[in-house]
Amino acid sequence: MDYAAVLKQVAEAVEPERGSGRVANYIPALAEVDPDGFGMSVVTVDGACFTVGQAEQPFSLQSVTKVMSLTLALEILGDAFWARSGREPSGDPFNSLVQLEHENGIPRNPLINAGALISTDVLISRHGRDGAVAAILEFATEMADGEPVRIDGRVAASERETGFRNAALANFIRSFGNLQNPPEDVLHVYFHQCALEMSCKGLSRAMLYLANRGVDPVSGRQVVPERRARRINAVMMTCGHYDASGDFAFHVGLPGKSGVGGGIIAIAPQQLSVAVWSPGLSPQGNSLVGSIALEKFTTLTGLSIF
Ligand code: GLU
Repeated sequence: MDYAAVLKQVAEAVEPERGSGRVANYIPALAEVDPDGFGMSVVTVDGACFTVGQAEQPFSLQSVTKVMSLTLALEILGDAFWARSGREPSGDPFNSLVQLEHENGIPRNPLINAGALISTDVLISRHGRDGAVAAILEFATEMADGEPVRIDGRVAASERETGFRNAALANFIRSFGNLQNPPEDVLHVYFHQCALEMSCKGLSRAMLYLANRGVDPVSGRQVVPERRARRINAVMMTCGHYDASGDFAFHVGLPGKSGVGGGIIAIAPQQLSVAVWSPGLSPQGNSLVGSIALEKFTTLTGLSIF
């Protein structure tokens, strides 16, 4: 498959849509991003990389990092993790509180904020507060294989200043006994995790293990067991786009995870990982142009898993 040509066609197809959607503005530091930005990167399981647009422009990963913290939390707790978080789609916005009360503080899945706070808590129990931030940064850096990774302190501070709903979620979960660490510490780590910055090139490289049965094909490292890679992909497929997860499956047909920074990572099992960034969001908080680009990508390549 000539992925360079495919990406060129995708970029041409989304050109008229560039700048549509609304850039996240609930965090002031995110609102400053250029709304016309667009980049895309593909890394195949034989390690070849293809890019188009601003694929080397770092952006705020936000909720895309929930896949990384889930990977690390599953390594610590194994299947016991699933006693503390469900794995069903929520059908609710990313920061919704409503289900938690009915479901006794057990979040619907680890890819909404409530569930990501559980992953964070697991990391703090193992590494301590600052050690948990370091573990996430170290994992992202190692997996990105030389592509730049950093935590934007301004974004983290901005999240803290405006994170009342996340604070409510953490305290609520703690009230049910499903957090082991102080909510302030869990929030500190969560906000720093969300503030991780990478480019499409780095992100697609970093997530390649999910496309290759848990093994990073370039380093040969078994990052997660094969069975777990399948399960992380299953959760991404059903829960990776909040209350638009069904729509993403319908249009794109790949496991994926979005973030309000405008990034999306998607996995074509046994083939490739693909990252796209464009900051304008749909009302559900998913990159509008990014979703259109991925739909075009799977249409041209026939890579939908269905
Ligand atoms: N930092 C964001 C929040 O928790 C992440 C949301 C997202 O990317 O969907 O509010």
